[in-house]
Amino acid sequence: MNAAEVAQLLGIASTLDNRISAGSKMQVRTWSHVLDDVPYPVAERALREHYRRSTATIMPADIVEHWRTARRENAEQRHNAELRAQPRQLDDTARLRIIRAGIARVTTALAITRGLDPARAQAEADARRAWLALPCPHCHARPDHPCTGSGGRPLRKTAAHPARLDAAHATSGHTTEGPR
Ligand SMILES: [Zn+2]
Repeated sequence: MNAAEVAQLLGIASTLDNRISAGSKMQVRTWSHVLDDVPYPVAERALREHYRRSTATIMPADIVEHWRTARRENAEQRHNAELRAQPRQLDDTARLRIIRAGIARVTTALAITRGLDPARAQAEADARRAWLALPCPHCHARPDHPCTGSGGRPLRKTAAHPARLDAAHATSGHTTEGPR
């Protein structure tokens, strides 16, 4: 609030409270110094709230307190609105499960397209899912990343390094025969 706004506020306050004088230049100056960051509409609401519940003379601290409360409530409302607007984030485990299920579906579909037995294709997809969940001890491919050979290129002859298939076998008990 600038001095003009403080003068207007004190003018209103003086009609509610005869202990406040509307015309004191000194008061206008000191109040506008204390309340320089408080917007006028907020101060006017603070004045209204104050004299609805209190017979005490309003002090700049009452207005600042009202301003702080209003800002806090605004921030909370904004925060809650943002939370509601955000799609629920999947945790990492759920995300990986979806990725692996997708890979398995694609693998099965490809196998069927190639004329392989769907049951066998499913088994291979399960196996693929099992080793893909683990890092490769040989080429250090991370989970959900395919094994790579020299030059970082994908393997051609097998789907994954034997060490990774063995690790998957030990972990899951699945048959880990890779697609040929
Ligand atoms: Zn590997």
